[in-house]
Amino acid sequence: MLSNNPPAENQEQVLEFVDSCQLPTTWANFHMHAFFEPATGKEHIALTLGEVADGQPVLARIHSECLTGDALFSQRCDCGPQLEMALQKIAQEGRGVLLYLRQEGRGIGLLNKVRAYHLQDDGADTVEANQLLGFAADLRNYGLCDPMLKHLGIQSLRLMTNNPRKLAAMAGLNVTVAEHVPLIIERNQYNNRYLNTKANKLGHLIQPDL
Ligand SMILES: [Zn+2]
Repeated sequence: MLSNNPPAENQEQVLEFVDSCQLPTTWANFHMHAFFEPATGKEHIALTLGEVADGQPVLARIHSECLTGDALFSQRCDCGPQLEMALQKIAQEGRGVLLYLRQEGRGIGLLNKVRAYHLQDDGADTVEANQLLGFAADLRNYGLCDPMLKHLGIQSLRLMTNNPRKLAAMAGLNVTVAEHVPLIIERNQYNNRYLNTKANKLGHLIQPDL
């Protein structure tokens, strides 16, 4: 959300680059870049592939941490398949970047996400559950993208997302979105309602219902 992005002049201090290494995966041998956020103690990473600092638009995914979806194969959301598809597309092109931001559960944290899932087990949708817990529907802050992309020498993105709020948030940053690349994920009986809520209540650019 735009209002959560820190002012541009403070962004140099909000994130410290720590180190880089290689990260071989099923699809490609990425470079992994580690950053530390002093204000929260959180650790964030970026994966890059190929030459990304040449000024040309870079195929990009800005992914917020979802432990259940990214690592535990949850079918309650589409985070895991989106992460996998984004890395595959970057590998196919041989060039791109993935920013992995540690803002679990749309910013409410893992423990509150479990509370929200419990409310959803009892019938609430993902937006209602967050509101019942006293949170906004989406607390994510994309301001960290600026110092990460600046460090990586990236000025222009071909951004893989279905989320118009993320595209709007990018407008408040020092990066150009040259192209919007949709990421369409298959539905299943568990994520169908979640994806409908994202389409109907959060304005995501995905087809409502199966
Ligand atoms: Zn998820």
